[in-house]
Amino acid sequence: MKFDGFETLAIHAGQKPDAGTGAVAVPIYQTSTYTQDGVGGLRQGYEYSRTGNPTRAALEENLAALEKGVRGLAFASGMAAEDTLLRAVLSPGDHMIIPGDAYGGTFRLVSKVVERWGVTWDAVDQSDIEAVRAAVRPETKVIWGETPTNPLLKITDVETIAQIAHDAGALYVVDNTFASPYLQQPLTLGADVVVHSTTKYLGGHSDVIGGALVVSDPELGEQLAFHQNTMGAVPGPFDSWLTMRGIKTLGVRMDRHTANAEKVVAALEKHPAVRKIFYPGLEDHPGHKLAERQMRSFGGMVSFTLRDGEEAALQVCKRTQIFVLAESLGGVESLIEHPGRMTHASTAGSPLEVPADLVRLSVGIESADDLVADLSQALEG
Ligand SMILES: *Cc1c(COP(=O)(O)O)cnc(C)c1O
Repeated sequence: MKFDGFETLAIHAGQKPDAGTGAVAVPIYQTSTYTQDGVGGLRQGYEYSRTGNPTRAALEENLAALEKGVRGLAFASGMAAEDTLLRAVLSPGDHMIIPGDAYGGTFRLVSKVVERWGVTWDAVDQSDIEAVRAAVRPETKVIWGETPTNPLLKITDVETIAQIAHDAGALYVVDNTFASPYLQQPLTLGADVVVHSTTKYLGGHSDVIGGALVVSDPELGEQLAFHQNTMGAVPGPFDSWLTMRGIKTLGVRMDRHTANAEKVVAALEKHPAVRKIFYPGLEDHPGHKLAERQMRSFGGMVSFTLRDGEEAALQVCKRTQIFVLAESLGGVESLIEHPGRMTHASTAGSPLEVPADLVRLSVGIESADDLVADLSQALEG
């Protein structure tokens, strides 16, 4: 019998009881190297911890199972995962397409680093399928997507863009950080690579930085493992362990993130100080129907603009008491931020610039009534 329910996999995939002691929790193998039985005689296949470490391997197997991929690779951060992937698959002369409101760090990596190696790129609003089709060139090697996007929570059609990418001979990469594999599994919709900042929902407790790549093709997995070992941006055993510990409760946390976000959205909708709410769960959100099809629920990220402009947005960020003013997202605690001056400051003056009166919330799993009361008092002033 095959037990493959999501929550079962989150708790058990890759988590074999320790052979030496029977420990139920995977131990933190805090070692850099491994004894060999004679020259080249590896006892358990491990040689050196940049190449492989049992704690990291348990996390990698778990991630592959949750995304329904064949191979998972863990990295020291989401950006390390992105950098390793792009250097593995792109060469000078290639072209890539990124989202019109890409994660700020991805935009910076592509525009300030990858571009210097002779790679061209276009930023395209991928909720507009025809715009994606029109941006594809003969030299396009990667279409990079996010859904929902950050911070405007646009939804892109993963199945259709996978088709466009494959017709063009390009790889389709989906950054699944905002949704997490509990809400959507892009590989099952045709994506070739899933990218994560495990720092966010997967880790879930705002206590560890990490990243991951998961692929559906074993050969691509081998190629990325080669680059992971060659570049060496790997997470240590303790960070791998913390991430794994977080993942075990991903399902219950995501259910509560969504439930709380829905209550927060309902309160914001009624508030006169709020101009526009960006949340895929709203029926008038342009991607609502698609999100309903593609996602299990609409998640914990909510953005909104203020009737009274940027100054009002800054004031709300300053006045909340439970919502912590901080970058990042996906932890148990609610966070608030001003994308224009914080996470997305690097996009100023570019086509990816975000509205100045925008506030982004990462709705946590505290008591929903307290979260609503906190936002209400912050909006009243
Ligand atoms: C945070 C984040 C990243 C980068 O991950 P780090 O772990 O901070 O390096 C990439 N993509 C998205 C969508 C993110 O939110």
